[in-house]
Amino acid sequence: MSKGNIGVTSDNIFPVIKKFLYSDHEIFLRELISNAVDATQKLKTLSSVGEVKGDLGDLRVRVIINKEKKTLTVSDHGIGMTAEEVDKYINQIAFSGAEEFVNKYKDRTEAIIGHFGLGFYSAFMVSKKVEIFSLSYQEDAKAVHWSCEGDPEYTMEETIKAERGTDVVLHIDDEFSQYLEDATIEGLLRKYCKFLPVEIAFGKKKEWKDGKEVELDEENIINDINPAWTRKPADLTDEDYDKFYHELYPTQMEEPLFHIHLNVDYPFNLTGILYFPKIKSNLDVHRNKIQLYCNQVYVTDEVENIVPEYLTLLHGVIDSPDIPLNVSRSYLQSDNNVKKISGYITKKVADKLAELYKADKEEFAKKWDDIKMFIQFGMLTDEKFYEKAKDFALYKNLDGKYATLDEYKEQVKEAQTDKDGNLVLLYTNDPDAHYTFIERAKAKGYDVLLMDGELDVHTMSQAEQKNEKLRFVRIDSDTIENLIRKDENAKDDYSDEQREGLRKAFEAFIPKAEKLNYYVTCEPAAADALPVFLTQNEFMRRMKEMSAHQQGMSFYGQMPDQYNLVVNTAHPLIQELAAKMTSEQVSEEVEKKEGEETKKETVIKTVYSLANEDERLKQLIDIALLASGQLKGEALAKFVNRSVELL
Ligand code: ADP
Repeated sequence: MSKGNIGVTSDNIFPVIKKFLYSDHEIFLRELISNAVDATQKLKTLSSVGEVKGDLGDLRVRVIINKEKKTLTVSDHGIGMTAEEVDKYINQIAFSGAEEFVNKYKDRTEAIIGHFGLGFYSAFMVSKKVEIFSLSYQEDAKAVHWSCEGDPEYTMEETIKAERGTDVVLHIDDEFSQYLEDATIEGLLRKYCKFLPVEIAFGKKKEWKDGKEVELDEENIINDINPAWTRKPADLTDEDYDKFYHELYPTQMEEPLFHIHLNVDYPFNLTGILYFPKIKSNLDVHRNKIQLYCNQVYVTDEVENIVPEYLTLLHGVIDSPDIPLNVSRSYLQSDNNVKKISGYITKKVADKLAELYKADKEEFAKKWDDIKMFIQFGMLTDEKFYEKAKDFALYKNLDGKYATLDEYKEQVKEAQTDKDGNLVLLYTNDPDAHYTFIERAKAKGYDVLLMDGELDVHTMSQAEQKNEKLRFVRIDSDTIENLIRKDENAKDDYSDEQREGLRKAFEAFIPKAEKLNYYVTCEPAAADALPVFLTQNEFMRRMKEMSAHQQGMSFYGQMPDQYNLVVNTAHPLIQELAAKMTSEQVSEEVEKKEGEETKKETVIKTVYSLANEDERLKQLIDIALLASGQLKGEALAKFVNRSVELL
């Protein structure tokens, strides 16, 4: 038996492992199993080049819990290690400047572990003692037993081991007894080892029989050793891809819409499959995330800095040995490989979408509602993606017809260009609420888009910035005559006083509400439009809507809602009201008061008192509110009663 001290610098490493690496201590299992898998793969490679002769036999890696001895063993039949190799790979974990490094990175588990190949030593995070029993594949090799109790001292001796390979035996610390529970270990294996390229066995398969769970004779294999992303696209059917999707996300019921198989080997190495899930709202976006693997070992599902943010809406796997996983997140963002990977994925995704669109526009349109949020998000946050996506990003009109923006512009150009050459695109986010406005627009031969998605407001603003002389206006933001102005303002023959009187009269009877302002304007809409109606300014409303999603815009969010109450001076009813107000009665009043008050003031007062007598004015206001869904509670009850009385 030999005794020794582990590398010079390991004095510093044990306390770090013990004290500082608590946060992620479960990764010890991933590290040990990766080593076992590597050793097995190396053996296969040696065998394939003829360096190892004969049948390799059983190559499964086994994870075994012994509750009595309180041990957890990872056992492989890989290349094994000779005593010299144990000394070289396990004992000499020497590196320069260890102390300095350890102090610098003591908060970052992964950085230390990955950087120094401390994988094996992570076993000490949860063990009071670790033993290695190993028999090398080399001819005449002698088995070796290594043992260490978490201090720099170790023992090493020759031992007897019948089978080639390595057993790493962890004597689990009392405070980590959860790692002696079947359920915990099975959970970790399923998390980290689901797609490792060598079979991992843990216990026996179980089955329900007569209401009882019974063990079968068969081993319980944790992993799929040939996951779809490692196979050639040509060998896979759509069903294979769907099946793999459910393997990845066992709780996901819905099928993905389509997939993209990634495969590059220059200038970096990356494989993977990305799936487009059905995304209906923000809510289910982050339930299933893209999983990142390194040579089929699960690393993380926090891919935020590796793929562009909008791509995190996708599902699937990315496997790359070239992503530096063991460094900090901020470093990742500036890493050149990561930038290239991110750019590559963006291009690949955009190209695939363009290809799908070209291949079958109708099919693509059918999927549009499900992928729209993802594409809009990408366009809003990634200029390069925007450039490609603008050719397949679709707009849907109220008839359910889809078109790209360029196609749509072409379709409506003739009818919807106003007198100043602006192309005005009309939209609604609520066809029921805007029914009357929509009907009026259609009557003029205009088309109306349906824009009821969560990102539509932002998308429209972006399109306006990118397209000169293009404006989106919600159908209820003004009279249709004003929205697409074809000639100079229509005129009515009301006098200024009359107009002012009418305005004041309506203003006096409009209900007051908190955080709600109504402005009365008198202007001629069409004679067959409603006599009084509400519109809402496009700019203010959009600012408010956008402020709901964006920081730094809360100023708009706090502003009261503003509506215009448009009194349609072209409508016969309004003309009648106005006529009454200019009747002799008003003139008489004006004569009488001459000298005391200005003519204008007199008119306003008279109009007001006349309006007060005329119930129809209140009725008109209520109708306008009702048409916009704003007449509620007491006001609604009053309206109903008044309507009955008027009848
Ligand atoms: P890394 O795996 O990053 O190199 P480790 O500390 O995990 O660092 O392992 C150090 C070395 O010990 C490995 O590179 C390998 O040569 C050897 N080793 C570890 N585990 C095994 C094993 N199960 N079978 C054979 N060799 C092993």
